[in-house]
Amino acid sequence: MADPRLAGTSIADSVIDVFGNTPIVRLDRMMEVEQIPSVLAMKMETTNPGGSAKDRPALEMILAAERSGELKPGGTIVEPTSGNTGVGLAIVAAQRGYQCVFVMTDKNGQEKIDLLKAYGAEVVVCPVAVAPDDPRSYYKVAERLTHERNAYRPNQYGNPDNPEAHYKTTGPEIWEQTAGRITHFVAGAGTCGTITGTARYLKEQNADIQIVAADPEGSVFSGGTGRPYLVEGVGEDFFPNAWRPDLYDEVIPVSDADSFAMARHVSRTEGILIGGSGGLAVAAAIQVAKRAKPDDLVVVLNPDSGRGYLSRIFNEDWMVNFGFVTECEQCVGAVLDA
Ligand code: PMP
Repeated sequence: MADPRLAGTSIADSVIDVFGNTPIVRLDRMMEVEQIPSVLAMKMETTNPGGSAKDRPALEMILAAERSGELKPGGTIVEPTSGNTGVGLAIVAAQRGYQCVFVMTDKNGQEKIDLLKAYGAEVVVCPVAVAPDDPRSYYKVAERLTHERNAYRPNQYGNPDNPEAHYKTTGPEIWEQTAGRITHFVAGAGTCGTITGTARYLKEQNADIQIVAADPEGSVFSGGTGRPYLVEGVGEDFFPNAWRPDLYDEVIPVSDADSFAMARHVSRTEGILIGGSGGLAVAAAIQVAKRAKPDDLVVVLNPDSGRGYLSRIFNEDWMVNFGFVTECEQCVGAVLDA
């Protein structure tokens, strides 16, 4: 509700009123270093209050549940989430008076768990190395908790309001910000909400816009078996409801090593700190932009910040342990830093 005392000011009514409207920035230095003939620009979802693209579907899903009566005043929200959707839900819940319980796997970083707790949410951690129908899996634990607490379950993997949020906001923003000149859109796919909602809007404006999904090697979207990979928030071992291959012109697989190397490269080259799934998307976008014509405009969506990955992608010991950086490269880095 607007406060009449603030009439004429540009003060927002609440934090949820400043979701979206994220900037797009030309990746000038990357274009130079990578010798890219077209224009490569990044939609920076890090400027959402929760620091990721997932604020948008979190709000859309909660507002829809309020309208349908599934979520009652003071009610509880239970969701299995790798973190970013949880942050978005936790923000909206705090602002609108709901309780949150999040179910995560032990693959996720401690920073993400602490972050959700900081918003007052409860976090339950489950093992990643079990089958989806195992009672310890995060899907099954979320089901049980929903039942036990008579909670509302947004179910971002099946909820049409997830892609709808991007259809209503991300797509129109990109179309307007590029003055309709976008030729290619590249984004990572997890629930597929971002890529599908944005693609649906952009293709309605101009069916020639090429939609490219970036996918971790091993994930089913690019023909993998669903075997484990380390990049977080993208790729799946099943096809979510929002998976719409008819809307995607190409799916590009990217390895963990290339995703992490690119996250570090972009952070250092552009001064834009991005995470592993952002690195994955940029790695795919660079392939696209290198093949594109000089007049083409490639927009890559960066879903979240590298801040959530300081103890992993940006930690030398972790990178060496997993074989992504050799001891030798680490020594060279140390000498250069000295
Ligand atoms: N990157 C990160 C870090 C994420 O948390 C998510 C959300 N799962 C994505 C990318 C992919 O977004 P979407 O679920 O809309 O496909």
